[in-house]
Amino acid sequence: MDLKVPYAEKDQAEALGARWEASRRCWYVPDGVDLLPFRRWFPEQDPGLPGLNLRSLETYVVTAPYRCWRCQQDTVVAGFLMAPGFEDFSVWQDDPEGQGHWGGGEGWRFAFHVDALPSPIAAQAIMRAPRYRRAFSQATRSAYWANHCPACEAQQSDSRLFEETGGPFVPRADGDWSGHRAVRVKGAFAAAGSFGRAIDDATAIPGVRAGSAPSPSVAIAARPNADARGFSILSRLRRWLGWASSG
Ligand SMILES: [Zn+2]
Repeated sequence: MDLKVPYAEKDQAEALGARWEASRRCWYVPDGVDLLPFRRWFPEQDPGLPGLNLRSLETYVVTAPYRCWRCQQDTVVAGFLMAPGFEDFSVWQDDPEGQGHWGGGEGWRFAFHVDALPSPIAAQAIMRAPRYRRAFSQATRSAYWANHCPACEAQQSDSRLFEETGGPFVPRADGDWSGHRAVRVKGAFAAAGSFGRAIDDATAIPGVRAGSAPSPSVAIAARPNADARGFSILSRLRRWLGWASSG
């Protein structure tokens, strides 16, 4: 991961393990190194560029006990659970203007295969599962946010965690969520990623409070001076995320 390190702080970053790539004139955290100590130098991500396609006003970081597939140590893994009312951006082939649109997502869904995440949101998962960090997947040839084992550093596959039966973040036949813990995400959640099957009994997860957050579109429409026709999708997204000055 690239860092934005002021010149005056370069020795500090280097002491923590950051490396300088001369060709790009950029400090970065090498793969396999815990990102947490570098949080203050995370670059601000442009919400337009990675194509963030998920947004949710009510979201939880859910942690779950999990056994590392490689070393069999007990560990804790984290995922983001979006409440009903979250939205998914998609472009349909028959969309006459080709602009795409945000559609209401149904049910409680875990986001996964997240390849872009605003730093303030990522930090809230990292605080509860310190080995949650960006990793490079050989399978998909891309970087995405993944859980890692604190004992052996093995990456814990999102497919196993979020898609396969028996995974900690898929619907459970026994309805037993007592080992899980949920903490509400501060601020609006946004990400580029996929989402899993509906978790019908999500309110059984300790810490989840059945909320009725307005969908982001409703929130935008309710804002004074938010004349949606005047904005491109990206500027609307930036506005919604609170990352653009108003006016
Ligand atoms: Zn392990």
